[in-house]
Amino acid sequence: MLLVSAPILGVPEKAALSKVIDSGWLTMGEQVRAFELAFADMHGARDCVAVGSCTAALHLILHALGIGPGDEVLVPSLTFVATANAVLYVGATPVFVDIESVDVPLMSLAEAEARCTSRTKAVILVHFAGYLANREQWQRFARVRGLHIIEDAAHAPGLREVGTFGAAAAFSFYGNKNMTTAEGGAVIARDPDLLDKIRQARGHGMTSGTHQRLNSRTPQYDVTMLGFNYRMDEMRAAIGLVQLQNLQEWNEIRRILAVLYRRLIAEHCPAVTIPFSEPRTSAHHIMPVLLPRYARRQEVIDELRAQGIQTTIHYPPVHHMTFYRERYPGVALPRTEDFAQRELTIPLHPQITSPVAEAVVAALASALNGGAQTGTAA
Ligand SMILES: *Cc1c(COP(=O)(O)O)cnc(C)c1O
Repeated sequence: MLLVSAPILGVPEKAALSKVIDSGWLTMGEQVRAFELAFADMHGARDCVAVGSCTAALHLILHALGIGPGDEVLVPSLTFVATANAVLYVGATPVFVDIESVDVPLMSLAEAEARCTSRTKAVILVHFAGYLANREQWQRFARVRGLHIIEDAAHAPGLREVGTFGAAAAFSFYGNKNMTTAEGGAVIARDPDLLDKIRQARGHGMTSGTHQRLNSRTPQYDVTMLGFNYRMDEMRAAIGLVQLQNLQEWNEIRRILAVLYRRLIAEHCPAVTIPFSEPRTSAHHIMPVLLPRYARRQEVIDELRAQGIQTTIHYPPVHHMTFYRERYPGVALPRTEDFAQRELTIPLHPQITSPVAEAVVAALASALNGGAQTGTAA
């Protein structure tokens, strides 16, 4: 089965894991610190905090910004559920905002303006599929209203602009992301005080970690805030250091494949459209396409699966999930809903070759020309 996304792991990762096991130090040691500095450096930041997941990263950012009960946070619905969940973790209210258009499926500025109230404290921008939101536009929006910008950058690691929009950015190293540590995440925040707070909250609110206490020979520590256990371990950081060395090259292969897919789809599936028709900086995390309105998506999915090609949907809107529907009934986001109904994610990862991409598009064309459309014939 050709998967939508597949991690690339090999001998260097195995060697890095062996070294950690041989060292006898399993968590929050030199590997984690080296990974933090290398990841920050790639994004032009001085430092970052490695954590257990992007979800933890988002939670820590909201927590450190002091966002809580009574506050509202603007979030897209066209995202993974974790974006909105993190807002609920701190007791604040997620306010879902529609996308700009099916061609630009990023949070709409006009819709965000319309949903702002005196309680709005922050906006979480998701760089959907890796395509960056418009920084200047959102900075102006946030400045006028005194809002924090938080980037959910799970789709966009490796881009210099990421982490420079506002207060902080959250990254994911889950197995299907552009680089992986199996489970893992990171926070970039340019304000050192905010980053310190996040670092402390990551480890139970303790004023120093075990490794630090060993090195400074002071067994004392204090707890000065309610913290969490959102630590990253040495095995994950060691894998992350290896993966990081490949990230730019992998992102470049993703970009080349995305260009190829655009050309092939225009040629062989003219009824299929691809979002982001205008050039825009991207880490090309996934390859979303929009099926024509007449297509029966489930049949296209089934037919591709029968040919050994996995496809997925990004995303079933968060406001349609039972938990959110029951909690916030009556949310209507027409453009998000239209996009989500027609979207199909085709395989995109650095191990895909041109002939494989051609086969995917040929299979898509045949599925659309075959039975997977609502016929008018009786
Ligand atoms: C994957 C993802 C997350 C969650 O990442 P984890 O590391 O699994 O917690 C959050 N937001 C978006 C947009 C994602 O794609």
